Amino acid sequence: MAMNALALIVALFAPAHPALKPSIQYTLRVDSTDLSGWTVEIRLRTVSDTFRLAMAAHPEYDDRYWRYVTGFRVESSGGEATFAKVDSAIWQVVVPRGPVVVRYRIVLPPTPPAPPSALEQRGAWRPFLTPTGGLVGGPHAFMYLLGSERAMVGVMLDLPSGWQIATALDTTSNSHWFTAANAAALMEAPILAGRLRVWRFTESGVPHRVVYWPLPNAASFDTTAFVSGIQAVVHQTIALFGGAPYKAYTFLFQDGAYGALEHPSSVTLGAPSADLARDPHAALAETAHEFFHTWNLMTIRPVEYRDIDYRTQPPVTSLWFSEGLTMFYADLLMRRAGIQPSDATRTAHLERLMSRYVANPAYGRFSAEAVSRVAYNADPGALGDYSASTHLQGELIGTMLDLTIRNNTNGQRSMDDVLRLLFNQRRAIDGHVIEQAVEAVCGCDVTPFFDAHVRGAAPIDFNRYLGLIGLTAHVTTGPAVFNGEPERDLRIWGWEPQGERGVRLVISDPSSAWGRAGLHSRDQLVALNGAAVATWPGLRAKLQSLHLGDTVRVQVRRPSGPFEATVVVAGFERPAVRIERLPNATVAQRRLAEAAIF
Ligand SMILES: [Zn+2]
Repeated sequence: MAMNALALIVALFAPAHPALKPSIQYTLRVDSTDLSGWTVEIRLRTVSDTFRLAMAAHPEYDDRYWRYVTGFRVESSGGEATFAKVDSAIWQVVVPRGPVVVRYRIVLPPTPPAPPSALEQRGAWRPFLTPTGGLVGGPHAFMYLLGSERAMVGVMLDLPSGWQIATALDTTSNSHWFTAANAAALMEAPILAGRLRVWRFTESGVPHRVVYWPLPNAASFDTTAFVSGIQAVVHQTIALFGGAPYKAYTFLFQDGAYGALEHPSSVTLGAPSADLARDPHAALAETAHEFFHTWNLMTIRPVEYRDIDYRTQPPVTSLWFSEGLTMFYADLLMRRAGIQPSDATRTAHLERLMSRYVANPAYGRFSAEAVSRVAYNADPGALGDYSASTHLQGELIGTMLDLTIRNNTNGQRSMDDVLRLLFNQRRAIDGHVIEQAVEAVCGCDVTPFFDAHVRGAAPIDFNRYLGLIGLTAHVTTGPAVFNGEPERDLRIWGWEPQGERGVRLVISDPSSAWGRAGLHSRDQLVALNGAAVATWPGLRAKLQSLHLGDTVRVQVRRPSGPFEATVVVAGFERPAVRIERLPNATVAQRRLAEAAIF
């Protein structure tokens, strides 16, 4: 059912709430007979005869939806309007000052290929439309007025009849009308709409809403356990920080999607119903991670973050903290909530992380800050023939700092106090701000630690820190095994760069069979055993079909000319870490170890 937008603006904002009248009013319209996209109408009153509208770039996932804007047009009763694109993401309009209406349509692109780790096709942060619902809004839908970023805006949603709406936008007395305090808040509030299931709970006096959009053929799952698991994690997170940085919070879960994206007072999450039918807590580790970001990333913000911008986010040096400590607490807070994450114990969790760390030479070559800088908005292969995870590196750095603090304060304080301090300070963070906060809590000098592992690339000597709590790590190396079988060295993958045909290789370890054969990240793949390979799924299928002992000829192109490598598929060695108690551990150390686990 279409609504008369202008009538609603007058009825809602002019007489009853004159102080709330937004200066920019959006209408987003989804027509159930054409789900190829949606139309957006922007009503504004201009004070100069030139204005510019831009599409914001998300700092993590810049999906560049300016590419899908069609039918841009401007109407004004004051005279003729002209417009031109002055940047890929900016439309400049010249029109007599006064009321202006801008209209455009976003035509949804085909779903991009999922990453190798995802079984589901659609990223949960990407918009979609189906007959039973969809995800709209945010930087994928709305342009913002340059120079008026701080202005309050109104949003009317004209959606197929029967669709419920879930969003972190501020509500009004009309269920289809919303407001956002400024342009950044508009971009940070995706809108999930359709046939939704909704549950509510209150923690610390703050309302929380859990919303689930099921596919038409969804598996049924234990929704009581699903919601109570989320509430338990919310309870632990608020208890850690001593308060919430939002007035209300909305979890936007979607069937048939992978991944997630945090926002200041909501989150989009992929949670396939088949997974939840198997385990109602299947999405809880990811949920705990994204929810923790509300504090650690959205509120404790990297100094490089801007409120809103159409330009790509420049590199961020402290993501090892924003991502790594968020990983650390996703695991810990689930345990505090009494729900076991995938690793049976905290010790098993650390053993797995340390095994990955010691198996990867990148962590002895790239500082945490260097890995942070390429974590978002960088092409695969940005570290050359190495690949590293800022999540893993940061989680282990956080773990060692936690042990240092517990040891220096006789168990009185921990990383919890560092997070609480940074949250209460509300300061933008970089390595030095984090270092100061750790020192303030610990009462110790961690500059050598930050020099070595955060700003420098020295590998962590785990036993130095585990020894503080009476533990030690043993590293053993043996043949890599997968499902009981010797594992093939397939430490190579590929990607298809935008605006380029074909696949570029990524070598994740120069000591792999592929690296030793002379292949490098960024090589353009031409053929495997003489057969052309043009896509990453094509390469992946060929790699998966290889057997131990097979010989593979890899033809590539690089700036210096063609190159051919011959690789014999072999097994490889992989280190494993086991944590044990030191025989001479003191009672005090054993107490610290027990406390560090919860
Ligand atoms: Zn994250």
